[in-house]
Amino acid sequence: MPAVPDILLNNGQRIPQFGFGVFQIEPKDTAAAVSAALDAGYRHIDTAQMYGNEKEVGEAIAKSGIAREDVFVTSKLNNGAHRPDDARQAFAKSLDDLGFDHVDLFLIHWPLPTRYDGDYVSTWRTLEEFYADGRARSIGVSNFQPHHLRRLHEESDVTPAINQIEVHPYLAQQEVRQFCADHQIAVEAWSPIAQGNVLDDPTINEIARRVGKSPAQVVLRWHIERGDIIFPKSVTPERIEENIDIFDFELSGADVEAISALDRGERTGPDPDTFDMVG
Ligand code: NDP
Repeated sequence: MPAVPDILLNNGQRIPQFGFGVFQIEPKDTAAAVSAALDAGYRHIDTAQMYGNEKEVGEAIAKSGIAREDVFVTSKLNNGAHRPDDARQAFAKSLDDLGFDHVDLFLIHWPLPTRYDGDYVSTWRTLEEFYADGRARSIGVSNFQPHHLRRLHEESDVTPAINQIEVHPYLAQQEVRQFCADHQIAVEAWSPIAQGNVLDDPTINEIARRVGKSPAQVVLRWHIERGDIIFPKSVTPERIEENIDIFDFELSGADVEAISALDRGERTGPDPDTFDMVG
């Protein structure tokens, strides 16, 4: 089994630095993909209410025979459920669908600053309830910019353990990452290979040839060396194995810098300050 390192969160909990994302995996394909990931040694699954596949994630984990405490499971609050009572109901449904009495991490999926009268603080205070009663071992946010995080800091009690944001070589996110580092918030990098968009890059391919790894493996290793937490998605068994096979080599400091220098502020997903989809 690959030796995946843990990251220590600001509340004393630990999270495997590498896992498996299930965004855009059809419910009918999810159990097979998660089973393949668990077989390959993944012990961290990232799902969300929005993905519609929590039930199948839970089923695959139950079927695996791996102890519940040995798999780190994250889910996220759907955009339509930010009001406190809706959030309470949605969270209870997540646990029910997963078939668990707790999740390891629960996140606000998007800040939605143009919805709910700009109030994501009462939503966060509701997640604090789930943390206090132990049904969420850690709580955090996703797609929060520094100004959103600053507001939580000023108006609530618990510092998010995690901020899950889009990060890859074409979107290095230095400002948000620095803010998080300064406030002991661990960063999770979503779309770590930009859904495949960075894999033809000449710099990444030159490094891949030189170190004898694939472009995807080089990019995933770059994230690990920068200290971020990642969970690449694939429904392809060979890629599921390829993506976790990154713990037997290191990139030089110069190679890490060369990949970081590819930053061109290019998002593959929406801008958190304007994204307002609640449906
Ligand atoms: P990724 O960057 O993980 O890329 C996934 C795509 O790359 C798929 O099309 C997959 O194809 C392909 N791929 C995977 N591995 C390889 C490989 N070794 N070589 C070539 N192609 C490969 O994108 P995601 O957007 O899925 O991000 C990962 C996870 O991050 C999500 O699953 C989700 O958990 C999370 N996320 C969170 C968001 C948020 O707002 N909080 C937003 C988006 C993602 P195939 O499956 O066909 O093999």
